[in-house]
Amino acid sequence: MAELNAETRNMKLVFIVGARPNFIKAAPVLKSFRQGTDHQCIVIHTGQHFDDSMSKIFLKQLGIGTPDVNLGVGPGTHAVQTAKVMVKIESELQRIQPDWLFVFGDVNSTVAATLVAKKMHIKVAHVESGLRSHDMNMPEEINRILTDHISDLLFVTEKSGLENLQREGVSESITYFVGNTMIDSLTGLLPEINRNTILSDLNLVQKDYILLTLHRPSNVDSPVKLNYLLEKINRWSAGKQIFWPVHPRINREKLKLNGSNWKLSAPVGYFQFISLMKNAAAVFTDSGGIQEETSFLGIPCYTIRNNTERPVTCISGSNTLVTEQMLDSDWLPPSKVDIKQPQIELWDGKAAGRLVKCFGQHTIAGRIPD
Ligand code: UDP
Repeated sequence: MAELNAETRNMKLVFIVGARPNFIKAAPVLKSFRQGTDHQCIVIHTGQHFDDSMSKIFLKQLGIGTPDVNLGVGPGTHAVQTAKVMVKIESELQRIQPDWLFVFGDVNSTVAATLVAKKMHIKVAHVESGLRSHDMNMPEEINRILTDHISDLLFVTEKSGLENLQREGVSESITYFVGNTMIDSLTGLLPEINRNTILSDLNLVQKDYILLTLHRPSNVDSPVKLNYLLEKINRWSAGKQIFWPVHPRINREKLKLNGSNWKLSAPVGYFQFISLMKNAAAVFTDSGGIQEETSFLGIPCYTIRNNTERPVTCISGSNTLVTEQMLDSDWLPPSKVDIKQPQIELWDGKAAGRLVKCFGQHTIAGRIPD
């Protein structure tokens, strides 16, 4: 018993956040650790996303608060961004000496922090592990595979993640299927989401507009490709208003928009965005997280990609892939869709609680002598 007590000592946990989707996945985990344990929780923001609309508003709305450290890496090519996080985080980890590092999702900050921590013999837990698009042209796929294969503890959001990890030879003893912490944020913040007034502020009519987001390099980096997509999206909208909070990656000056039904804005806050999603007739996107949120809410989602790393959203959720082949044909979204409220396993708003419990069991069990 004395041994067990020694192993349940309070630990120093560092949480790495850097980009918009990270904040949404990390917030419930951080909250569960802060409320349910005595571990010391330290937040490092890499600064991969840095402006108010992509970072500050999320820290505030999601209750993360001001990060303990901000590395301020800013924009750059993949190499520049990854390298800057690596160089800057090393001295911070040296100073903090954490027991565990928690990383989220598939962004450059995730893989950069993991590489550095592992070489410093700091243990790493990866939240949203095992997702695979099987498309190595996606920078995120490279980040996912590398992070998973050097992490010490893997938390999985959907069953396909478990199958992928098993196929890749990852030990089951470090893998936990806990559910989706992004859905915890959504369910936990519904009162605030429902209270906001963005719909009336924008003069949008419930179920009579399309919500659009685009940010994948393969869709937005070439103005020719992007304008081709926008023309298609305009056709698919069948005259409905299209609200598009434009990602900062996109050069707005090169946009060619036909029709008067477009409403563009800067990225909007989390409460505002989920409210827009809940009330939309349909969502067109290439985002990972938005496929999951629309699936949970039962909102028709058309994902402009050839593949998805989140197959459960197409199998059990409301997501349809719009592949290049469909784009080049005369495909149109169905005018009427009958979607029942999907039930996706362990997407129940309690994933972070399960994660903290599994972490506790794992860190004790991993230390009990034979
Ligand atoms: N989101 C938001 N405001 C916006 C667009 C998206 O709050 O203007 C949220 C959205 O609800 C989801 C997350 O940002 O939770 C998705 O981020 P993104 O699409 O940038 O990344 P991905 O999910 O593709 O990694």
